[in-house]
Order: sequence, then C-alpha cells, then structure tokens
Amino acid sequence: MNNGYQAGSTICPACCGLNKYPSYRYNHTMKVSGLLLILLAAFFSFSCLKNETQKNAASTAGAVSGSESPDLAEAIARFSGDAAEIDPDREAFVEDFWRWIFGEAGIPERLARKVAASALESPAFVMELLEILQYDPYIYCLVDKKNALPDGYEPDDLVTLRNGSYRVSREGLQLRKIAADALEEMAVAAAREGIILSVGSAYRSAEYQAQVYEREVRNNGQEMADRESAQSGKSQHQLGLVVDFFPIDDTFANTPAYKWLRQYSNAFGWSLSFPDGYEEVTGYRYESWHYRYVGRDLILFFETYFDGIQQYALQFIKAWQSYAEVAN
Ligand SMILES: [Zn+2]
Repeated sequence: MNNGYQAGSTICPACCGLNKYPSYRYNHTMKVSGLLLILLAAFFSFSCLKNETQKNAASTAGAVSGSESPDLAEAIARFSGDAAEIDPDREAFVEDFWRWIFGEAGIPERLARKVAASALESPAFVMELLEILQYDPYIYCLVDKKNALPDGYEPDDLVTLRNGSYRVSREGLQLRKIAADALEEMAVAAAREGIILSVGSAYRSAEYQAQVYEREVRNNGQEMADRESAQSGKSQHQLGLVVDFFPIDDTFANTPAYKWLRQYSNAFGWSLSFPDGYEEVTGYRYESWHYRYVGRDLILFFETYFDGIQQYALQFIKAWQSYAEVAN
C-alpha cells in the first residue's frame, strides 16, 4: 500500500499526523517521465473532442482502468509518437479537465479547478492515480446512497477483533485483515499516549445492515435514520474496512480519543468519512466516530488534491474509471 512513498523525515504536504508518525513522502517525481503528463492531456483533450482519436483514448483508458495491470512503459511508448503533434495548450487543457471533473465527478468548481491545475503542474497526480488503481478496488470503492456494493458482497479475509491494544465493545466484531492490522498499529501509538481506542462497530453484513437500518427507522423515523444509517448494500461498513469508535454518538466528539484521531488517524491510513459541514456531499450528517481505512497513499491523495475530503476523491476516481471503461 505504500508504493511510491518512502520513509523519511521530509515534511509531508498533507496533515500534521503524517509528520509525527512514520512520515512518508512522495518519491514519484524523480521516476516520472513528463510524457505521462502529455498522456493525461491527450486522454482528456482527445476524449472530450470525441474525434477520430478514439483509438488512442481507448489505449489510455486501458492503462488506467485498473481492471488490468497498467504497463506504464507501454502506455508512454504508445503516446510518445503522438506527443510531438500535441500542442500543450495549458489553459485549454485545464479548462477541459476541470469542466469534466465538475460535471462527471460532481466536484465543486473551486476544487475541480484546483485538481486540474495540480494535474498539469506535476505528473505526480497521474502517477498517484495509476498506482491507486492498482490496489484492491474495494479500498477506493465509492459506497454511498447512490453507489451500492455488488449484491451479497462479503470480504473473504475478515478477522475477529479482540481486546488488547484497543477495546471492543462486544464480542464478534470483525474487520478485513488489512484494516485490523492498521487499527492495531494505530491503537498501539494511541496507547503510548494514554489514549485507549474502543471499537463500537466494524464489519456489517448486508443482512445485519438491513436490521440496523430498520431499527433506526423504527426508533427515529425515516428522515433521521437516513441522515446517519445506510440501507443494506450501501454501507461502508459492509466493506470490512470501517470502524465506528465508541461511543457511537455525538458525545464521542468530546473524548480524548476523538481529539487524538482527528490529529493522527491520517498517519495510519484512517479517514473520517462524514466530516462536519458535508452532509449535502456525503449524504450523512457529521459522524465524529466513523473512520474508513484507505491506507496512507490514498490519504495523501485526498489531502493533496481534494482538501482531505474522502467523498470528493472517491467520486473523482469512480468517474475516471467509468469514463475509462466507456472509452475502452
Ligand atoms: Zn459507521
């Protein structure tokens, strides 16, 4: 999960937590060919124009689809022939790109412009995106009110959480192994500072989520339930990568654990899914207790290009993938 980053002492451009704990810095720039930038520009300018270069766009799409391992050298080679003919019109590219991000990924204009500018400024953006698309797709999969998991999805590497560096509020709580390991690593660091993390909820099967949602509706009514509980198949909890820290309510925001997590969770790859002030964007009210494991690389991607907002970054990745699939 840490491809492209090296342990080091360099200050990370993202959050403070990444500075305190094993810091990771970009190691992309040195190994990246400028041609990748041209590749990105080519992809969008060609695709947006929908002209006779469909074949080339398809080649690019193949390189970023994530469904197959992209061969960067091959992708560069394919495009190098065309590169000389491309007029790298910066403004036109940024204009096309931000409009695409705004329209297809639903990213606000200000942020869409920032992403487009970042992508043009440095090839790191493309490199990071290509690397992310090689991960287990459930790590970056968008799961929200509009985007359900495949029917009956169930992770095959769930492990049971036990009291130790962290506490569990009840027996039988499970997470995927990668998330359980990351939780352990984070809990050990927190415990060293006297903070004991307590897990209130973790993996939920589609069936269990249906019960949780129905109970919420019964107790609080449909409207309130929809603000903090997902329908079956549309919960991040079904990924097995999510923890609700205990207590699972607004009082969690008054705990030392909350303060510690806000400062340092990023350093361990855990992202607050539903931040304060983003209900319109995420579909859920502020949930100070709900963290999704995405890994440090993805956290850095969120922080560097998407103001740290998980939802925006995952929307962008989904839009990119969908477009690539169509073009392919
Ligand atoms: Zn939750």
